[in-house]
Amino acid sequence: MKITVIGTGYVGLVSGTCFAETGVQVVCVDVDEHKIKMLNNGKIPIYEPGLEDIYKRNVEKGRLSFTTDLKSSLENSEAVFIAVGTPPDEDGSADLKYVLGASSEIGKHMDHYIVVATKSTVPVGTSVKVKAAIQKELQKREVEIPFDVASNPEFLKEGSAVQDFLRPDRIIIGTESEQAIKVMKKLYKPFLLNGHPILFMDITSSEMTKYAANSMLATRISFINEIANLCEIVGADIDAVRRGIGSDPRIGNKFLYPGTGYGGSCFPKDVQALIRTANEKGYPLEILKAVESVNNRQKSTLYQKIFNHFGGKLKGLKFAMWGLAFKPKTDDMREAPSLVIIEKLIEAGAEVVAYDPVAMKEAKRILGNKIGYAKDEYDACIDSDGIILVTEWPEFRLPNFRVLERLLKNKIIFDGRNIYDRAELEEMNFTYYPIGRKPVK
Ligand code: NAD
Repeated sequence: MKITVIGTGYVGLVSGTCFAETGVQVVCVDVDEHKIKMLNNGKIPIYEPGLEDIYKRNVEKGRLSFTTDLKSSLENSEAVFIAVGTPPDEDGSADLKYVLGASSEIGKHMDHYIVVATKSTVPVGTSVKVKAAIQKELQKREVEIPFDVASNPEFLKEGSAVQDFLRPDRIIIGTESEQAIKVMKKLYKPFLLNGHPILFMDITSSEMTKYAANSMLATRISFINEIANLCEIVGADIDAVRRGIGSDPRIGNKFLYPGTGYGGSCFPKDVQALIRTANEKGYPLEILKAVESVNNRQKSTLYQKIFNHFGGKLKGLKFAMWGLAFKPKTDDMREAPSLVIIEKLIEAGAEVVAYDPVAMKEAKRILGNKIGYAKDEYDACIDSDGIILVTEWPEFRLPNFRVLERLLKNKIIFDGRNIYDRAELEEMNFTYYPIGRKPVK
């Protein structure tokens, strides 16, 4: 069996590599020549745990290849997956130019029946547009070639994308075609040996499922952040409250950690896009509007604590920032809370020296010389007026506080992910500012 995957970002590259792992011939296509060149030279443009191993193995076995030439990749392919970006448009709706551009390209080059599956996160109604874009090109060519469209939203998480793809909780396929169902069943069977389901549904419901899932998760984050902020005000402790509510199985204890707001390439844009879809239909989504505004506010929470501690006098101070990526185990900094905190600190005249185990290259690309870059978390602390923990990388969990107290000018930790033990820190005379835990003595 042979397939084509269009787009070699987090989703396309991981999907293509994991499909190849099951013995399928996979050709990954991208318009970005630099990326394709890297991939053909044995280099992966993104950081994702476990990806390099299976990428190398499958390239060596000749099952995985990379090209900018869609036409050749489509030859004999039974399915083509569209996994290109859907960034937010100026008005917050999903920008479909890459998805529809890829669809037109498929229409220009396909020469036999193929299933066109959309993996990109796309708003309700996009499959109709994908179909129309392909048909338009076929008409231009004056040919009639049958094809089917399917919606196949992706649920992998950056940082554990390979494991998520290889062992999915569920596969969602939206299609009206029996032939497309057959092809998708064949492709996904190897991933479902753990008994997890493949759910077939209509295209509209499938497209909606992805947005509903991400919006629900974003809602949980904004909810727990609001409760955490209120805990601080009333003198309650969010850890206790989280355990208290999480032990109710209807609530559950997962995804209930307060922090500096959600970021990344998905939650912010998907929440925005669903709000936009609903607005267009004349049904404003009040909950999601609140989720978004709470999140925007939360991104400044840590800065506010810094500002308050120093009585607003931040000019000339220097801070060590631990973690830049929007979450651990990824180099992705899209919509990362670190960016908001950095911006505000710099505006206030402070200096930031940062360290992230894998996002340094990406940070330099985005921030240039706006901040300093340390060689490790200790290096960042030399003569610093405090540590700002933004991303909970495992290696930040148990630092040597005795070393830190020698390096820091001010023994203060602003902990945006509540990873430290406040009693332990206070015993060592650190001033500690977590999120939603009892106020500092
Ligand atoms: P990305 O920006 O990392 O990668 C997109 C790739 O598509 C880029 O390499 C780009 O060059 C390429 N591309 C654009 N137009 C093209 C064309 N016409 N032909 C070939 N290549 C083209 O994006 P991503 O993070 O992989 O996300 C892709 C989609 O999957 C988005 O819709 C996103 O919402 C969704 N998604 C992302 C995640 C995630 O964690 N990143 C998870 C689930 C779903």
